[in-house]
Amino acid sequence: MKALCWNGVRDLKVERIPDPTIVNPKDAIVKVTMSSVCGSDLHLINGFVPSMKAGDVIGHEFIGEIVAIGKEVKGLQVGDRVVVVSVIGCGECHYCKQQTWSLCDNSNPNAGLQEKIYQYPTAGIFGYSHLFGGYAGSHAEFIRVPFAEYGAFKIPEDIPDTKAVFVSDGIPTGFMAAEMASIKPGDIVAVWGAGGVGQMAIQSAYLMGAEKVIAIDRFDYRLAAAATYSHAEVLNYEATDILEALKESTGGRGPDCCIDAVGMEAHTTGMEHYYDRSKQFLRLQSDRPAVLRQAITACRKGGTVSVVGVYAGLVDKIPMGLFLNKGLTMRGGQMHGQRYVPRLFEHIRNGKIDPSFLLTHPMSLEEGAYAYRIFNDKLDNCMRAVFIPSQSFVGD
Ligand code: NAD
Ligand code: ZN
Repeated sequence: MKALCWNGVRDLKVERIPDPTIVNPKDAIVKVTMSSVCGSDLHLINGFVPSMKAGDVIGHEFIGEIVAIGKEVKGLQVGDRVVVVSVIGCGECHYCKQQTWSLCDNSNPNAGLQEKIYQYPTAGIFGYSHLFGGYAGSHAEFIRVPFAEYGAFKIPEDIPDTKAVFVSDGIPTGFMAAEMASIKPGDIVAVWGAGGVGQMAIQSAYLMGAEKVIAIDRFDYRLAAAATYSHAEVLNYEATDILEALKESTGGRGPDCCIDAVGMEAHTTGMEHYYDRSKQFLRLQSDRPAVLRQAITACRKGGTVSVVGVYAGLVDKIPMGLFLNKGLTMRGGQMHGQRYVPRLFEHIRNGKIDPSFLLTHPMSLEEGAYAYRIFNDKLDNCMRAVFIPSQSFVGD
């Protein structure tokens, strides 16, 4: 089959690799019909997540059709149209039973590797480095789905592919960001990052009763989308002093909830830019935490900081004094998609969540390197490129 493979930093190629097969009776094989790019892929492509190997197939946000199924998978059959959650959970361990699927004890075959860094292993994730299980990703014609009974969900007929694909990762991540922010009716919420995850966090925050959501980014087309489709007020951090602006729009109090939907590759201006870049280059910190610092600083006393932007390792100059003395709560995590999928179908159906505008670039797999270039550099008004593996490349 064809697959989009990682071969080094910013080096992607479509290659022919063997088709996946059932290796465990709990597996299913899915023919991928749509597979989206995600901000998390950028951390792999830009070389910030360790343990990638040449030839690794990336991609984790996808839908498809079941073409083969293991003997022990209940409730699914060949021919089912399914969305598969990007995080893999066994469904049986303590953490899966508590609905904290991204903490699964059993789905990461490279648990030993991860224990060396995180002390305890976390769940495997499709196409997301050997540290997270070494599973082949979804930017391919077919994919092996372990523990399919728990991770693959039949898509209701009235939900189109163009919405269902984001139920795999982008929507549950935004939804969990809002949930972890403990939004109460009337709250003011600030969301850093107006990418797919930030947009879904904004829509979810309104769904949970936020009175006002303020989106922060520097790309006007993304801010315009946040205003038009997600109904946020918007701030461009290149044109505005964010801390001052947030004070002003909250009566001097600060937002009740601050959501980091940016993560380890935050872009910064001024001295902070040189500080973070050089520390990262010298490997004195692995991630650039500019948004985390700003969220902790901006948040009102007693408020909540919710972190879904991905961090991989160590960060520097986190204002712990502010965190403690302002009595903040901070929560974070890879999302627990399996816990949210059924209610997300409902929210899509009743129009409370609408991700359709995220799909700006339907493409063939052969266009993969180009797709990631425009997504990484935020060119051509790209929100998310979505690969349709059956679509062959016709060229210019
Ligand atoms: P994206 O690249 O489309 O969007 C990120 C946005 O952040 C960009 O628009 C960028 O301009 C903006 N940004 C950069 N620096 C900023 C700053 N200083 N202030 C405000 N905005 C800034 O990515 P995405 O797909 O929306 O993903 C966002 C984050 O969520 C990534 O870190 C990704 O890894 C993470 N993610 C986490 C999970 C999870 O389970 N926790 C799942 C999916 C994605
Ligand atoms: Zn588990």
